[in-house]
Amino acid sequence: MKLIFHPEFYRVYTSDPAAEAGRMEAIMGELQDFDVITPEPATENDILLVHTNTHLEWVKNLGDVFDVAMLAAGGAVLAADISFTEPSFAAIRPPGHHASPDSSWGFCYFNNIAIAVKKLLSERRIRRAVIVDFDLHFGDGTANTFRNDRDVSYFHMSGGEINGIAEFLGKGEYDVIAVSAGFDRAKEDWGGILEMSDYRDIGRIIRENAEKTAMERGLPCLRVGIITGCLERMSEPFLRDSDSFAYIISSALHEPCSF
Ligand SMILES: [Zn+2]
Repeated sequence: MKLIFHPEFYRVYTSDPAAEAGRMEAIMGELQDFDVITPEPATENDILLVHTNTHLEWVKNLGDVFDVAMLAAGGAVLAADISFTEPSFAAIRPPGHHASPDSSWGFCYFNNIAIAVKKLLSERRIRRAVIVDFDLHFGDGTANTFRNDRDVSYFHMSGGEINGIAEFLGKGEYDVIAVSAGFDRAKEDWGGILEMSDYRDIGRIIRENAEKTAMERGLPCLRVGIITGCLERMSEPFLRDSDSFAYIISSALHEPCSF
């Protein structure tokens, strides 16, 4: 598995909680064993696959945020690209799932995962995609982006219903599974719902469905890319005191072609 990360993501680019000092250090501390690849910023054309020119210009005027947001989107695009040869995880910020085509909130600016999926579609590298979002908060930006798109289905987990992910993945048709991974639903975090074992189950469900779908279609491997979602409340103790973050990544991605 390749881990996409850039030291610029350590930078405190604004005053919101997603940009807090120490947050990315905690994440990277858990992921030291993975190969790290450094992304380039997204191009403006990438951004415009999802967002309006007005929104792009608005983010441009936010100062430091713009450069790091372009880099985060570039990280998502790179993760999607790498997923064609091996599983990938983008540890990026700012998050993106509250970014709609013409507006954004919730510490998000560009919708990283939507841009990555749209790019795969626009280059005709895939025909259909599913996006699984297990962050506590509904990814309104992602849902808005694909509301009228028959080629992309968005699923947001509700409550502690892990099996909903299995049901969703079991009935869909897709060439790639993209995952918006926010960990704020954890027992120790804001959501206060999911145990560590639940995250392991989520990882297992994603991996099993990727394997099953690939096998049914005679493919060597179904692509899975995981991109960090809304991280505003993810606590350092959660990352430090458990292996769940690294576990879900390896569980979902490490050996998706084990059959
Ligand atoms: Zn969230």
